[in-house]
Amino acid sequence: MDLTFEPQHDEFRQEVRAFIARELTEAIYADLSKEDESYSPIFHKKLAAAGYVGMQWPEKLGGRGRSNVDMAIFYEEMNYALAPLGAYTGSVVFVGQSIATYGNNEQRARFLPRIAAGEVTCCWCLSEPEAGSDLMNLQLRAVPAGGAYRLSGQKIFTSGAHRSDMALVATRTQPDKVGTRDGVSLFVVDMRSPGITIRPLWSMAGWRVNQCFFDNVEAPAENLLGRKDTGWNHILTTLGFERSAIGKVGFLMRGYDIMHRKVMTSPPAAGSRVPHRLAQLRAEILTCRWMNYQIAWRQDQGEDLFWEASLSKLATSELIYEMSDLGMEVDGLAGLRRSNSHGAEGLFEKTYRTIPFYLIGGGTPEIQRNAIAMRGLNLPKR
Ligand SMILES: Cc1cc2nc3c(=O)[nH]c(=O)nc-3n(C[C@H](O)[C@H](O)[C@H](O)COP(=O)(O)OP(=O)(O)OC[C@H]3O[C@@H](n4cnc5c(N)ncnc54)[C@H](O)[C@@H]3O)c2cc1C
Repeated sequence: MDLTFEPQHDEFRQEVRAFIARELTEAIYADLSKEDESYSPIFHKKLAAAGYVGMQWPEKLGGRGRSNVDMAIFYEEMNYALAPLGAYTGSVVFVGQSIATYGNNEQRARFLPRIAAGEVTCCWCLSEPEAGSDLMNLQLRAVPAGGAYRLSGQKIFTSGAHRSDMALVATRTQPDKVGTRDGVSLFVVDMRSPGITIRPLWSMAGWRVNQCFFDNVEAPAENLLGRKDTGWNHILTTLGFERSAIGKVGFLMRGYDIMHRKVMTSPPAAGSRVPHRLAQLRAEILTCRWMNYQIAWRQDQGEDLFWEASLSKLATSELIYEMSDLGMEVDGLAGLRRSNSHGAEGLFEKTYRTIPFYLIGGGTPEIQRNAIAMRGLNLPKR
C-alpha cells in the first residue's frame, strides 16, 4: 500500500499551478460582478482553451481523458487559489458528467464538445418549492406532445440559471406517481426556450440563486437523458457528482494557511483556545483530503460510489463552517467588517455568510447522514 501521488499526478499539479499563476490575475477578480461572484466568463474561456473544461472526457468529445484523481488535484489547486469556478462546476460536474454517464452516444457527441469548448454553460434544475430534501415529491410535469415533451412547473434555488445556456431538468413524466420514485425522467433543456421565466432569489451571501418557471416549455424527445420514467437512479448519480464537488478541501487548506499566518504574526492571548481549534482543524482537513483522493481513486478503478460522496460532502461542508467560525475569532473585531473582496481578504466573514450554500446545497447535513446511515451502513430507518 503506497499512499502517495504518481509522478504524472505531480506533473499535472505543476501544470495547473503554472496556469493559475499565469491566468488567474487581479483583472479576473476585478471583473467579477457582485451578483455572481463565483463566475468569470473570461476565466471560464481560459479554462476551456487550456483543456480543463471536461478534461475527464475522451479526446474525441473535447476532453483530455484525465482521471478522477486528476480532477481532484485540479479542484484542490483551483479552490486553494479561490478561482471562480461557478460555471465550471455546473457545466462540467453536474450536467456534463451526467450526459457522459447516462446520456446516449448521440447526446454525448452533440453536447459534450460544446461544453468542453466553453461555448455553452449549464445549470442543474432539481429542487422545487415542495421537493427539496423530499425529492419524491418532485412535480414539474413533462407531457408528450407530438415528437416532443411539454414541461410545466417550478424549480427553485437554481444556481446560475440566469446565465446558463442549458439545464438538466428533473421532471415527472407520470404525474400520478408523485410521492414515489417512479415516473421520473430527465431532460436537457435550452434555457432560452419560450415559456421559461427566471427570477432572482437573493441569498444572505449577497449573490443570487433563482426561481425558474416552466410554462409549456418544449423539449425535443431526443433530449430525454437516460431512461424514461425510471430516472430516479440518474438523479442519485448526478447528486453524487454534486456532493463530491461541494467538498472543497483546497478552500479549507487556504483558510487554514491564512489563519496560521495570522496567528504566527499576531499570537493569541495566553489561554486562548485558538491553537487547539487550529490543530483540530488541521487534523480534520488532512483526513478529508485523503478521503477525497481515495474516493477519486476508487472511481478511477470503476467503482460506482454514492454514499461515499455524502461522507465527503458532510465532513467538508461542516468543516467549512468550523473554518469560517474560527477565522472570525482569529480576525477578532475586524472579522465583523463586511468583506468587499473576492479574494483572500475578508475570506472568513464572506464564508460565514455563504455557509448555507455549503451546508444546504446538494442536500442538507441531515440528508447526508440519512444517506450514509441507510445506504452506506445499512442501519435501520429511524
Ligand atoms: C445556495 C444554494 C444553492 C442551491 N443550488 C441548487 C441548484 O443549483 N439546483 C438545485 O436543484 N437545487 C439547489 N439548491 C437547493 C438545495 O438542494 C435544497 O435547498 C436542499 O436540498 C434542501 O431542501 P429545502 O430547502 O427544500 O429544505 P427542506 O427539505 O424543506 O428541509 C428543511 C429542514 O428539514 C430537514 N429535513 C428534511 N427532511 C428530513 C429528513 N428526512 N430527515 C432529517 N431532516 C430532514 C432538513 O435537513 C432541513 O434542515 C440550492 C440551495 C442553496 C441554499
